[in-house]
Amino acid sequence: MFSLILGILLSDTQYTYHVYKTCVVYTQATYTIRVLRSIRAYGHDRDRKPGNKEVQATRIEAVKIEPVIVTACRFCGSENIVRDGIRHNKAGDIQLYSCRDCSRYFSLNLGFEKMKASPQAITGAMQLHFTGESLRNVQKFLGLQGLNVSHVAVYKWIRKYVRLMEKYLDRITPKVSDTWRADEILVKFRGNMKYVFALMDDETRFWIAHEVADSKFIHDARTLLRNGKELAGKRPMTLITDGMAGYEDAFRKEYRTMKGPRSKHIRNITLAGERNNNKMERLNGEIRDREKIMRGLKTPETPILPGYRIYHNFLRPHLGLNGMTPAEACGISIQGPNKWLTLIQNAKKAQYPTTVNGLTRPTKT
Ligand SMILES: [Zn+2]
Repeated sequence: MFSLILGILLSDTQYTYHVYKTCVVYTQATYTIRVLRSIRAYGHDRDRKPGNKEVQATRIEAVKIEPVIVTACRFCGSENIVRDGIRHNKAGDIQLYSCRDCSRYFSLNLGFEKMKASPQAITGAMQLHFTGESLRNVQKFLGLQGLNVSHVAVYKWIRKYVRLMEKYLDRITPKVSDTWRADEILVKFRGNMKYVFALMDDETRFWIAHEVADSKFIHDARTLLRNGKELAGKRPMTLITDGMAGYEDAFRKEYRTMKGPRSKHIRNITLAGERNNNKMERLNGEIRDREKIMRGLKTPETPILPGYRIYHNFLRPHLGLNGMTPAEACGISIQGPNKWLTLIQNAKKAQYPTTVNGLTRPTKT
């Protein structure tokens, strides 16, 4: 009896021990598998993280941005519309239409709805400002045309439309070359000197990205290089910069890869301390020529800088490109007699998700 109980106990203990051991082994194995899995997942995630992702250059076909002609009701999309009166604004007359289907009134100014000034006045003001006239000079010019607006109003137009165009244009990939240059330009903001960091395509002069920073020495150029990679959809094979230490670190983190072909970084330092960064020097000069614009810069978030970038890339004909704009050299052309107008119309149209009768209309008004 005793031996039987002992026997049961013993066998039980052995059994328990056996179960215990199996559990330990099982737990250890599970743990090891879990660790292995997490390592593999981490490695996988690391490869997929956008910062380190190898962006493949996808060659897109030439992009043609055409003027948008709207001939349908803004509200219901019906083409059954008639001219119905004129709205007299102090900044000019605007033709009104009414819809025979939903009997609502509207103007056919895609992108300029509810603006007091005409599209011509607003785009004209932008052209004048970005070719070097101060906001006050633009205001005086508009005044001579019988349009009384404040220089602040002109600034607000520019801010509104630069933001609209920027969002739209950021989605279009320019076909830039494989050699990019980065440099910095000293600009005064409300009396404080700040550096504007710029990344440009060497071949087309397309201004790929910019960033405003306080100091040249402690600046981390990573955001600039990453933004450039995101817009262009690829990394450059060659990056030319000056000797600033920040570029080397940023290049290593953003553009260097383990797989070939590998990008190379050329730090342009000459013994005489003279730089051979001629194309950037030209952008430098181009911006300095527009000192009047730059004098108006109040904050680093200013819309004037991105606005100037849009002007430089999409509107300004370049002598070095046989009169083409940098964007045209990158396969993006803006059609129509007023390129600002074409850009604004398309940017606005891109905000409207639905289509009625083949025409876009807003989902809510
Ligand atoms: Zn309607």
